[in-house]
Amino acid sequence: MPQVAERVSNLPPYLFARIEKLIEEKRAKAVDVISLGIGDPDQPTPEHICAEAARQLQNPANHQYPSSAGMFAFREAVAGWYARRFGVMLEPKSEVVSLIGSKEGIAHIAWCFVNPGDVVLVPDPGYPVYAGGTILAGGEPFTLPLLPENGFLPRLEDVPTEVARRAKIIFLNYPHNPTAAVADRDFFRRVVAFAREFDLLVCHDAAYVDIAYDGYRPPSFLEVPGAREVGIEFGSVSKPYNMTGWRCGWAAGNREAVEVLARLKSNIDSGVFQVVQYAAMAGLTGPQDCLERTNALYRERRDLAVAALKEMGWRVEPPRATFYLWLPVPAGFTAESFAEALIEQAGVVVTPGTGYGKYGAGFFRISLTLPTERLREALERMKRTLGRVSF
Ligand SMILES: *Cc1c(COP(=O)(O)O)cnc(C)c1O
Repeated sequence: MPQVAERVSNLPPYLFARIEKLIEEKRAKAVDVISLGIGDPDQPTPEHICAEAARQLQNPANHQYPSSAGMFAFREAVAGWYARRFGVMLEPKSEVVSLIGSKEGIAHIAWCFVNPGDVVLVPDPGYPVYAGGTILAGGEPFTLPLLPENGFLPRLEDVPTEVARRAKIIFLNYPHNPTAAVADRDFFRRVVAFAREFDLLVCHDAAYVDIAYDGYRPPSFLEVPGAREVGIEFGSVSKPYNMTGWRCGWAAGNREAVEVLARLKSNIDSGVFQVVQYAAMAGLTGPQDCLERTNALYRERRDLAVAALKEMGWRVEPPRATFYLWLPVPAGFTAESFAEALIEQAGVVVTPGTGYGKYGAGFFRISLTLPTERLREALERMKRTLGRVSF
C-alpha cells in the first residue's frame, strides 16, 4: 500500500475516539447510555415530504442521472424560498446550485478558490468541515476565535492585515453550531466591507436559519447590500425538515462562485437523486406548520434543559436559535474530563467543546435532538451525579 497522501494525513485527528470507546464499554455492560451529543433531528421527515418522494419514485424519469447543478425546478424552489423568507431575489439558473447536503459544498468550495499556501479564515469553535475542506485543498486555516465576551462573533479587525491579504475565503455560520450564537444584519454588513477590502469570498453556512424560537427570525447573509458581490450562502433541508439522511442542500448567491462550484462538482459527482430534490422542494414550497411543530418541540426541550441546568448552578440564557446549548464545564474539569466523567458516572454523553476547535476548551455542547423524556432523564442523572456545580 502506498503512503497516504499528505492532504489526508494532514487532516486533524479524530477527537472522539476515546469517548466512543467509553460509550462502547458502557453499552457492553448493558448501561443505558443517553446521548446528548448528536446534532441530528430525532423526529421523522414530515409525511407530505415522504409522500411526494414515494410518488416521484414511481416515475422512471427520476431513475436516471440528474443534472449535476440540480433540476431547474429545484433551483426555482430555492429561489422562491429566498424571496418569501428573506425578500432576496435570486436567479435560479445562475445563482443557485444543488448540493449533496450542504456539507458537500462546504468541503468542496475551497477547491474552487484556494491554492496551496493560501489562507482560509475559519471560526473556532466551529463546524469541523471548514478547516477540513481547507486542508484538503492545500490551504492553511487561520483561526478566528469566537469568544463569549464578543457574543461568539469574530473580531474581523483583529485579523492581521498580512493574513487577510493572503486569505481567499472566510467561513461564517449564524445561527452557530456549536455555540447557538446569532448574528444580526449589522454584523453581516461589516463582513461585506471586510470581504471587499481584502477581496475574499464569504461562505456563510445557514444550516440553522429556520431553527429559531420566541419569534426570532434569523437573517440571511444575502439580505445585506453587496453580499451577493462577495459571497454565497449554504443552505440545507437537513435540519428544518428532519431530512439529514436524504442529503440535499444548495449554495446560493454570487454567480461566479456558484458557477465555479457547479463546474468543480460536475467533475466529481452527478448531482442529487431527483426523488430527493422533489422531496426537498416539497419541504421548501409546502405547508410550513411542520417547521412550527418541530421548533415548538425544541423550545419545550430547551426550556426544560435551561431550568434543570440553572438548578444545578449554571448561568444560562435560553438560546434564540439552533438546537444546541453551549455551556462552560464546572471548576476542576477540562472539556474532555467532564465528558468522560459524565459517561462514567451518569451514562450521559455530551460533546466536549474541543471537538470544535481549541477555543472550545472549557465548554461542552448539549443537543436537544432526543425524545423529551430521555432528555429529562439525562438531566436528572446529571443532577444526581454533579449536585451543585461551581465555576
Ligand atoms: C448540520 C449542519 C450542516 C448541514 O449539513 P448537511 O450536509 O446539509 O446535512 C451544515 N453546517 C452545520 C454547521 C451543521 O451543523
